Amino acid sequence: MELKKQGNLIVICGPSAVGKGTICKEFLKTNKDIKLSVSATTRKPREGEINGVNYYFLDKEDFLNKIENDEFLEYATVYDNCYGTPKGPVLENLKQGYDVLLEIDIQGAMQVKEKYPKGVFVFILPPTLKELENRIRNRGTESKEDMEKRLGCAQDEILQVEKYDYFIVNDDLVEATKKLNAIILAEQNSVKKYKKNIIDKFSKEEF
Ligand code: 5GP
Repeated sequence: MELKKQGNLIVICGPSAVGKGTICKEFLKTNKDIKLSVSATTRKPREGEINGVNYYFLDKEDFLNKIENDEFLEYATVYDNCYGTPKGPVLENLKQGYDVLLEIDIQGAMQVKEKYPKGVFVFILPPTLKELENRIRNRGTESKEDMEKRLGCAQDEILQVEKYDYFIVNDDLVEATKKLNAIILAEQNSVKKYKKNIIDKFSKEEF
């Protein structure tokens, strides 16, 4: 009899351009069993982004309908656009014992924490604020006004780090990815989470 799998909801959060997406992508290359949640957004696709892969790109009306129908686990307005995590696939994957990764903003992370306190909340930090500023500028996907808005929020967000379980400084992608691996591995072997499943299995097993 196998040990029943327990899906973890892993929430990756941190300021814009800190590299959350890059770390998640790198991590998922070697962790094929972990499901990345695809968010919905009203933001326009950037070059190369594919509907249903990077995001579900919706118009405002569709997004509002989904809120109305309670289809989001969380949703938030981030820099004038709406973003939300479709609830169905997340809950289904967790039920099946898969770990699910959410890469979302701080407002969304706090909503998830309210609804699902068992989640694992990971905050990605930049090495310095100056470096974060460089990354936002180099990405070059935002207007000057948007860029300034994002930088202004970053420091406030970092100062709320106490609400998270773990932090990762994204100085070096390989190191940061290793740390995410270590965090998730630890959570997959947490007695607190698994005690019921362990007791269920070993109390029924025969010699
Ligand atoms: P971007 O437009 O650069 O892809 O994302 C902007 C911000 O929205 C990022 O901080 C990203 O993590 C966040 N975001 C992406 N998807 C979601 C989501 O489903 N919910 C929330 N609350 N934030 C999201």
